Amino acid sequence: TLLKELSEIDRLHHIHPSTNPKFHRDNGPKLVFKEGKGIYLYDLKGEEYIDGVSMLWNVNLGHGNKELAEAAYEQMSSIAYASAFYGYANESTARLAKKVASLTPGDLNTVFFTSGGSESNDTAFKLSRFYWELKGYKNKKKIISLRRGYHGVTVAAQRATGIEVYRNFSGSLDPNIVNAKPHLTECEQGDKNHPEYEGSIHSIIEKEGAENIAAVIMEPIQGAGGVHIPPEGYLEAVRKLCSENNIHLILDEVICGFGRTGKMFGADNWNIVPDLITFAKGITSGYSQLGGVAMTDEIGNTIAQYDGMLPHGFTYSGHPTACAVGLKNIEILERDNLVQHAVEMGEVLRQGFEYLEGKYSFFTKGRNVGLLGGFDLMRSPEENIPFEESVKAAVTLVDECFQRNLLIRPFDFEPGMNIVAVAPPLIIEKDEVEKIIAIIDDSLKALSNKI
Ligand code: PLP
Repeated sequence: TLLKELSEIDRLHHIHPSTNPKFHRDNGPKLVFKEGKGIYLYDLKGEEYIDGVSMLWNVNLGHGNKELAEAAYEQMSSIAYASAFYGYANESTARLAKKVASLTPGDLNTVFFTSGGSESNDTAFKLSRFYWELKGYKNKKKIISLRRGYHGVTVAAQRATGIEVYRNFSGSLDPNIVNAKPHLTECEQGDKNHPEYEGSIHSIIEKEGAENIAAVIMEPIQGAGGVHIPPEGYLEAVRKLCSENNIHLILDEVICGFGRTGKMFGADNWNIVPDLITFAKGITSGYSQLGGVAMTDEIGNTIAQYDGMLPHGFTYSGHPTACAVGLKNIEILERDNLVQHAVEMGEVLRQGFEYLEGKYSFFTKGRNVGLLGGFDLMRSPEENIPFEESVKAAVTLVDECFQRNLLIRPFDFEPGMNIVAVAPPLIIEKDEVEKIIAIIDDSLKALSNKI
């Protein structure tokens, strides 16, 4: 059969990203997808799955959207690819740059395009450092990022990533990038007597010297670190700290951007204006590979005054087809009020989490902003006791969900961590959110018999 043939080819010839290679070589793929429609995915066996995390929190308009396919077809039929090097322009790329500028907070009116999130973060680091150099600050090179933050896997982005397993891969421990403790509002406000002060952003700025620091990067809400929403006042405190010290604030909006949290950008939940925003995923709902960096007029205009070649650019920077898909994606987001819809569906998700929290003693910390959600599993939430390692609670729950045809994602990269993310496409309807909750409910019941 086709399934057998493809599984065998894939098993022998494909190394999968973020997958156990030996397990794959021994067993082949877990699923072979055939098609998708809305929140549903179909594999070669004809099984229907609910996509509970929008694949990699990116398929925000859901699967099988013909309008996006047509936008790509039209662009490809006229000119699929045109370079943005040497000052060449084209309609889709120019219009998307303006559209993104109009949606970003504050005066982030200039955009540099890439093909994804990691490239965008590496680009933001380079542009930030380049800006400071142009301004005469020769030593502003360091980047501060947060533990548990995820910024991608290219060499700079992986070092900024605050999850050890990614950070240490390739052995490239760039000393110009430092990981700080996350989400310590009081410390960032300058409370040096706080027991956690050592290792906070504030303490690192003090130790390294603001004259050596280019930027602080963080996600508005940490995604792959386990869906961590910052405490009250945190982003405001970091914004103020950066401004006072002449340090750029880069917000990594790769997951949050373009509606996921019920606002166009994650920053809008706290009315924060960063100096740079990095974006990818949601700008095309995954229909094409596109990312970018949006920057303030101050940064954009300073770089625009540089009288030499900018030695940075990807073959696919400003790819016309990707940009045409991005334009159509944003048009649909706005036309169908999907950002507001994410708020309403987020409320249904919140109610679902509340119901599960009341029903299972080990279900805790249900949380979401719009359709970016997650929860923890613990032996005893009251006493703050995690599950024993051998239980593998999050992985087991996600496996139970998989057996009931729901795809969601576990996080257990630290001892005692059992977090599960739920982030369905923004087009999801109320009964479909309830279906997801019902499957998690059944799976929790199954889990309770195994723990
Ligand atoms: N930043 C964040 C917040 C992400 O979640 C991701 C990917 O999951 C990235 C950056 C890296 O993006 P990409 O995988 O497109 O390189």
